[in-house]
Amino acid sequence: MTNNGTEKTSYDVIIVGGGPAGLCAAMYAARGMIDALLIERGLPGGELLNTELIEDYPGFESILGRDLAKKMTSHAEKFGASIVTDTVDAIEKMEDGEFEVRTQLGKTYRSAAVILTAGGTPAKLGIPGELEYAGRGVSYCAVCDGAFFKNETIAVIGGGDAAVEEANYLTRYGTKVYLIHRREEFRASALLQDRTFNNPKIEVIRNKVVEEIEGGPTGATGLVLKDTKTGERSNLAATGVFIFIGFSPNSGLIKGHFEHDAGGYVITDRHMMMSIRGLFAAGDLRVQLTRQITTAVGDATTAAIAVEKYLAERTAEAKAPVGTA
Ligand SMILES: Cc1cc2nc3c(=O)[nH]c(=O)nc-3n(C[C@H](O)[C@H](O)[C@H](O)COP(=O)(O)OP(=O)(O)OC[C@H]3O[C@@H](n4cnc5c(N)ncnc54)[C@H](O)[C@@H]3O)c2cc1C
Repeated sequence: MTNNGTEKTSYDVIIVGGGPAGLCAAMYAARGMIDALLIERGLPGGELLNTELIEDYPGFESILGRDLAKKMTSHAEKFGASIVTDTVDAIEKMEDGEFEVRTQLGKTYRSAAVILTAGGTPAKLGIPGELEYAGRGVSYCAVCDGAFFKNETIAVIGGGDAAVEEANYLTRYGTKVYLIHRREEFRASALLQDRTFNNPKIEVIRNKVVEEIEGGPTGATGLVLKDTKTGERSNLAATGVFIFIGFSPNSGLIKGHFEHDAGGYVITDRHMMMSIRGLFAAGDLRVQLTRQITTAVGDATTAAIAVEKYLAERTAEAKAPVGTA
């Protein structure tokens, strides 16, 4: 049951974050009879709770994000996973090789292994209409939501690799894709720019910021743009608005040095173990090609099974006579 009143503070493994990766890791760990605790700061489900319809999770042709979140949570709990509501402030490996996981409610938990599944946060424009039409035209994921905009007009906002690559991807669905950037020069690689800018379905709009996302009962209908040089305002009709202005992996909780890429995404080995032994990572905060529910649960499956092996190795090492471990 989800609660925050557990008195027990020592576990085999602590899972930080209750999105698809965390819930899957908790389900595998509990079913594998590993003493596991999952700590989630909000309602379990992660980004599933910000997603309307999911059409690409095998076995479910179409399911609401919140319904899949409930199913994943009850599946983990059915096998006995403990879930508490609290925010993790710090994960630190101590001198004795165990981890301390410290929380906002003032708890300090201990475990031999930790699986970090805290996901990440897509950067927001912070403009009127963005929240209101999120999931009803506004999206932060082209692979997830592109198919909902077949034969519609799509606007993509951003100037980095993600925006340029995803604009190109979205031309398979939209009749027209506008790529809107606040500057003249794009940060995206020359190769990506070349491919995207030569796509006849793409129209590049430079030196314009989006001031507002407009819409109605059916969802987003268009954008209000402002020219950064002249200050002139204009309107652009679009029913799909894809925002790619950055994504921050929630890896800042880890105390101590760990390997990561330039964007802060965590680097793991094939067992999902990070450069800190005993600390595993799964899902959106890990360096990988794509970020989907299927990849998050795939990572989590590997991590949970790898933790089982790691715990067994630790036990064997502890039992080995001195000098043989
Ligand atoms: C709008 C949108 C639509 C999407 N649609 C689809 C789709 O249709 N199909 C698809 O396959 N994928 C989709 N995705 C991508 C998919 O949702 C993610 O890839 C997936 O949720 C990643 O799972 P995760 O568990 O790694 O991270 P998350 O889902 O982000 O979960 C991380 C969890 O960690 C918790 N957390 C973070 N920090 C702390 C802390 N300090 N203490 C405690 N808890 C913490 C968060 O509250 C959150 O619940 C979509 C994403 C978005 C944003």
